[in-house]
Amino acid sequence: MDNFDFKGHKALVRVDLNVPLDGEAVTDDTRARAIVPTVQKILADGGSAILMSHLGRPKGKVNPAMSLRPVARHLEGLLNKPVQFVADCIGEKARTAAANLKPGEVLLLENLRFHPEEEQGDEAFSKALAALGDVYVNDAFGTAHRAHASTTIVAKHFPGAKLFGYLVASELDSLGKVLTKPERPLCAVVGGAKVSSKIEVLRNLIGKCDEVVIGGGMAFTFIKARGGQVGNSLVEDDHLETAKAILAAAENKGARLHLPVDTVVADAFSDSANTDNCPAEAIPAGWMGLDIGPASIKEFSDVIKRCKTILWNGPMGVFEMPSFRNGSLAIAEAIADASTQGAYSLVGGGDSVAAVNQFGLAGKISYVSTGGGAMLEYLEGRILPGIAAVENG
Ligand code: AMP
Repeated sequence: MDNFDFKGHKALVRVDLNVPLDGEAVTDDTRARAIVPTVQKILADGGSAILMSHLGRPKGKVNPAMSLRPVARHLEGLLNKPVQFVADCIGEKARTAAANLKPGEVLLLENLRFHPEEEQGDEAFSKALAALGDVYVNDAFGTAHRAHASTTIVAKHFPGAKLFGYLVASELDSLGKVLTKPERPLCAVVGGAKVSSKIEVLRNLIGKCDEVVIGGGMAFTFIKARGGQVGNSLVEDDHLETAKAILAAAENKGARLHLPVDTVVADAFSDSANTDNCPAEAIPAGWMGLDIGPASIKEFSDVIKRCKTILWNGPMGVFEMPSFRNGSLAIAEAIADASTQGAYSLVGGGDSVAAVNQFGLAGKISYVSTGGGAMLEYLEGRILPGIAAVENG
């Protein structure tokens, strides 16, 4: 971005304005604020910006409840300038609006997913989008793992004139600091509900990390695989072998794997359930582990504090319920403290980001990622099509 002069250019910019709406009000504008630096740079150079995004899942049909029109109004406040809006992203109206756009002006196109061709990665649709601008900017990290028309296919129409916006560049920079050239020791803290959704992440991270901490519901599949009694805790019986293979891989590759030693158990999946503490491998029948216990918090925090690079994806317990948030809070605090002491920390994945925000600790984390699914795929070691489409010429 810094090396490109947008003067006189019409930049077609894929952004992620998939913001939550309550009627016409934007209830969380984190994603909208994240694109402001890229738009401002284009305008400050003397270029114009044609913004395109999806919102929600309209499934290829026009759905007024998922119109981006209210988001255009919200953006005006963030950019402190008018944002034009056009009620389609291709066709005559879009072409005219784009053609009339002057340097310093911003245009937001209507929801891309009102057309089924967007998610199909349709060639003709991406060509119609491409015709609106003369340089392509991808600043939507959250959709970079999708080979959709606007995120990937469109890029081929801009040979030599495609680049990452500031948001995507900073996401890649942050992931690079963790996965490509981390300061060691490198620790990954992985939690959340299911092993099945994180198998590939764990496989990839085990080959790269010095320490791997596993918490959350997924820990119980590992504990059961090692012969523990897990009561009514969340377990994926069809992944016991996977868990064993991951434990073996950790041993072979020299990554130290830490599982919870104790757990906060409850007699129901409820904030008002009766609770107790017990060893993680000896949970009585009828009880379920819903958070990590104090001894695990101590061990995990000690691991985190001796590491120089820390990645966190997935909560340590059912943090949405106050009775089971302690573990995630303590881990977030340990990561924040380590960061204050000079470690580099990256937190990603919808739930862990929600947790650090809820705890008011986001400001103490080195980088809080915006891309849930995209980040997971990157952590799995996959090539993201939206990234490859810009990088490969
Ligand atoms: P994921 O989307 O896989 O990262 O999982 C996040 C969800 O896992 C959150 O909604 C948590 O409430 C849930 N979770 C974390 N720990 C547990 C647990 N011990 N038992 C059941 N659910 C859990």
